[in-house]
Amino acid sequence: MSNLSHDLRAALAEHFVVPLLAPALVTRSSDGTRKLLFELDGFPSPVTTSGNGGGLGRGFARAAIESVLIPDPPRLTLCISSQAGCGMGCTFCATARLGLLRNLSAEEIAGQVVAAQEQIEPGEHIGNIDFMGMGEPLVNYDAVVQAIEIMTAEWGLGFSPRRITVSTVGIVPAMQRLVADTAVNLAVSLSGTTEAQRAKLVPINRRYSLQALVAMCRALPIPQRRRITFEYVLLAGVNDSLEDAGRLVRLLHGIRSKVNLIPFNPFPGARYACPSETTIRCFQERLLAAGTHATIRQSRGRDIQAACGQLALASGRTPSHRSQSDTLDGNLGRQRVESSRPTE
Ligand code: SAH
Repeated sequence: MSNLSHDLRAALAEHFVVPLLAPALVTRSSDGTRKLLFELDGFPSPVTTSGNGGGLGRGFARAAIESVLIPDPPRLTLCISSQAGCGMGCTFCATARLGLLRNLSAEEIAGQVVAAQEQIEPGEHIGNIDFMGMGEPLVNYDAVVQAIEIMTAEWGLGFSPRRITVSTVGIVPAMQRLVADTAVNLAVSLSGTTEAQRAKLVPINRRYSLQALVAMCRALPIPQRRRITFEYVLLAGVNDSLEDAGRLVRLLHGIRSKVNLIPFNPFPGARYACPSETTIRCFQERLLAAGTHATIRQSRGRDIQAACGQLALASGRTPSHRSQSDTLDGNLGRQRVESSRPTE
């Protein structure tokens, strides 16, 4: 900050405080994955609170979120949240059960990266940042784009946009805006191959149909050497048949894409199961045989409920059972570190 005059710096220090996000709890998985829990201040939110989070009254919203640091040698991938809870209601996702508590600000989104950087050990560095934590980034569009600006700017965190991936449930008009406004990678959570099947799993399909979603992906001006990632959560007996794999191939025909198959990560009370390893492999092979690029996502941090779709504040400190003072005091400085015993 030496490009600012001494007087201006003194005035800024006197009148402004820049609060840094600090995790209240860091949990370590047996596989090296770390989950960071942040308790955010309640403050006026444009989103009406609903579901089991409730409001604090006087226009304040309660919020707690999680980020996940995943070893991806030789780097770490950081998975960040864009909302507290989520309003999309995907039936296979634990976060959906919280409902939408509130949108995060750009500072809260980018702040997760700064806080994670403080957790890493000598020799480690964050290589990729994925918007695959809690929330639907494209319904919190302005804050997400502003956070991307902070993360990529030279005056900010200096990450290449190629290292950042925004994952969406398929908010079709916002996908077009994102590709025009930023240079980040796009991932689309498909998880179904017919309108009826997808609508049961991903209710937003009733507003933005599979057909409209795929047509938009086909029309997006994606740079030559990039591909759209299609995430496909594999649910036993629901969307894991070879017919599904065949329909997926046909849907994605002509789109520069790669499919990321995500075996379902269980959570208490879930009504789905993860397919067998053989079924998962057969599904992948059907895609590969048709020339569709397809990988299977290794599940990381399952034992600490840090894997895809498991983020629901499983530490027990859910917004619904925290007191107001707990919420308002909880943000800065305090930190507990827990390690886990594997459960499987
Ligand atoms: N709202 C965004 C990003 C958050 S979810 C989106 O829908 O893309 C990140 C990824 O986790 C999505 O691909 C989602 O389909 C997947 N997911 C959600 N619940 C899951 C679960 N229980 N098991 C495996 N993947 C899950």
